Amino acid sequence: AAAPTRRRIRPLDQDVVNKIAAGEIIVAPVHALKELMENAVDAGSTSLEVLVKDGGLKLLQITDNGCGIDKEDLPILCERFTTSKLQKFEDLQSIVTYGFRGEALASISHIAHLTVTTKTRDSDCAWRAFYKGGKLVPAKPGQSPDPKPVAGRPGTQVTVEDLFYNIPNRRRAFRSASDEYNKIIDMVGRYAVHCSNVGFLCKKHGESSASISIQTNASTIDRIRQIYGASVANELTEFSTSDNRWGFTAKGLATNANYSTKKTTLLLFINHRCVESSNIRKAIEQTYASFLPKNGHPFVYLSLEIDPQRVDVNVHPTKREVNFLNEDETIQAVCEHLRTKLAAVDASRTFLTQT
Ligand code: ADP
Ligand code: MG
Repeated sequence: AAAPTRRRIRPLDQDVVNKIAAGEIIVAPVHALKELMENAVDAGSTSLEVLVKDGGLKLLQITDNGCGIDKEDLPILCERFTTSKLQKFEDLQSIVTYGFRGEALASISHIAHLTVTTKTRDSDCAWRAFYKGGKLVPAKPGQSPDPKPVAGRPGTQVTVEDLFYNIPNRRRAFRSASDEYNKIIDMVGRYAVHCSNVGFLCKKHGESSASISIQTNASTIDRIRQIYGASVANELTEFSTSDNRWGFTAKGLATNANYSTKKTTLLLFINHRCVESSNIRKAIEQTYASFLPKNGHPFVYLSLEIDPQRVDVNVHPTKREVNFLNEDETIQAVCEHLRTKLAAVDASRTFLTQT
């Protein structure tokens, strides 16, 4: 057989590298939405509106009333690793805001058409900028790429259009816009429960009624009632515990033994970021096993605050996974507390039914 031809090693185009990296961070529209919501909350917003077309593939628009972005910062806004939230590597250890490495907007600008309209409190007008591949681009060919003055209210509106337009295989992989929309509603719902003092609105483009509408001053239980229903909200037990040894505080709301459903709903926030943890999920399900009928599952909203020095949030650019010290001890302590709470409710219930 002929010897295989030897090919030289060459670097990929920077543009290709950026696109690959972006596609790893933003796998589906909901991932872009999560980053943009976190930015809006970081900016101190008290109102957040989400507009979605075609499951976020055609349009994803987030409007907030936060601090806005300085006009001078707009040229580098979407460059990779530009951020107002981190200066030194050590800052990673004490960071309390949601995003921190300046990758979200950069990533989005590599795989979608991105428009940012923003107004700070000190600015006389709002500024609108268009981005592609991390850089400012003109609205139309031939025009200047500089941000344009427009009328607008204080805050920021980020518009993401045609997500994955330049990754056709990814785009084709999305079979159903309504599946993607459901993921978006689920994520908006989670943040709407967690972010008290922030109002949330989530709408499908062209529909008059909103999928989620939460007033700024709604209580956490009211938020849960509106999003997950009265059957959940009526059976909630509040819990709160902490332990200095493991450097954590945990608080939240969990359904008691009167409530049971087919699948566990776990709203898990670690240092105010929505994350997944199969370890925590398993431990919670085990805790409930002695209180609920076979195949019955709870609703649990758990906000864990862990001493930032003990958390490694940097395991993956998506930040969907979080590692922290003494994870087992922390989970055990939280579940032990939950167990006592549930037992107390259970005991008073037994007492009530007996009398
Ligand atoms: P990161 O959030 O990790 O800093 P991003 O790419 O998400 O990176 O955002 C870059 C910067 O843009 C942020 O640090 C912040 O200063 C600014 N920014 C982004 N979104 C908003 C917003 N909605 N309101 C105000 N500032 C914003
Ligand atoms: Mg961010």
